[in-house]
Amino acid sequence: MSLVVMKFGGSSLADADKIKHVAGRIIVKKKGGNKIVAVVSAPGNTTDDLIKMADKITCSPSFREMDVLLATGEMISIALLAMAIDTMGEKVISMTGAQAGILANEDYTHARIKKINSQKIYNQLAEDNIVIVAGFQALNPRGDVTTLGRGGSDLTAVALAAALKSDLCEIYSDVEGVYTTDPRVVKNAKKINYISYDEMLEMANSGSQVLQSRSIEVAKKFNVEIHSRSTFSENEGTIITNEEKVKEKEMESFLVSGIAFDKNQAKFTISILDTINVVLKIFSKFSEVNINIDMLSQFVLDKNNIISFIVNGNDVKKAWEELDKITLNCNASISCDEHIAKISIIGIGIKNHSFVAAKIFKILYRSGIVPNMVSISEIKMSCIVNESDVLKAVAELHKGFDLSKKANKGDLQ
Ligand code: ASP
Ligand code: MG
Repeated sequence: MSLVVMKFGGSSLADADKIKHVAGRIIVKKKGGNKIVAVVSAPGNTTDDLIKMADKITCSPSFREMDVLLATGEMISIALLAMAIDTMGEKVISMTGAQAGILANEDYTHARIKKINSQKIYNQLAEDNIVIVAGFQALNPRGDVTTLGRGGSDLTAVALAAALKSDLCEIYSDVEGVYTTDPRVVKNAKKINYISYDEMLEMANSGSQVLQSRSIEVAKKFNVEIHSRSTFSENEGTIITNEEKVKEKEMESFLVSGIAFDKNQAKFTISILDTINVVLKIFSKFSEVNINIDMLSQFVLDKNNIISFIVNGNDVKKAWEELDKITLNCNASISCDEHIAKISIIGIGIKNHSFVAAKIFKILYRSGIVPNMVSISEIKMSCIVNESDVLKAVAELHKGFDLSKKANKGDLQ
């Protein structure tokens, strides 16, 4: 008998009919001779709605109370799903993160899982129960409920799959898996059958919303194979696994796996006389207040130092506040361009093939698009372009790298 962890996202649990549908899928899997641990997110947009409600009460809620509030969303799902399964005649029990033995550190709102006392879940499975666990939440050393950061139910699922040594970790959502790029933008985008942890991590960090990036890090660390698939279809989705397995399954000839893009980015440019101090101050202050800097560039023009860098669009207000403080009395001029987007071309094939970079530039130039910042890492090349060019650039790159023809060995047999 196999142990399967099945995780369902909020859009799969948005109303009573969907909850009943999910209950049905879980029961089918159970009847297939499996033990089931199901991890659930809050229904629909509940978490966003709770945040908005808190915003109406205070602009600086205590982190502890914020966690108490947000943890309620997942508790709605576990109770309703357990009721649905019970009505269908199967043995079931719901568990909060704490009841499931998920222990985390004290970082409210973005806690890290420290340990899972698996025995609590094993005991319920031994009683033949389907176990429904609230995702995104854990118990901290003070006995408080904490949450694991947005999208944290994926992390709960992967961490449980690792701790319980489950045979399968299925992550169900409203999309069929991971695509070569966003299918709403490029119609012939293709579902990827196998993708490596590192590629998936880059996709998640570059704007693909399919999985939370921390969950992929944990999956890689404990070698948990993830099957990302749709709640509403029987089709196979995407397997996220180690590089060796991807190489075994995929045709060698594909250098690029996917193209991600993120319009929620902003470029700051600072013109100032003294650089070293300022760059140091920006880096240390930004890390203190949790603002990530991407793609820093610096050059001298007419004795002025010009520093540019990219931040996430959500951090613009915070970044302005900090930059104003850092450059006070420095005679600096600061500007921020929010009409930019980041395109990331990702693939393990990029590792040893510098002509991929040349090809990317060629495709962009041919389309009349000049990237204004570029960064290259081991398996990713990212370009900053004007927001108005992003969809065209993605479509041209997708075509230029023949991604709609991406197939794996299995498809050819
Ligand atoms: N409900 C939480 C969120 O919206 C956690 C999750 O869905 O994974 O971020
Ligand atoms: Mg999610």
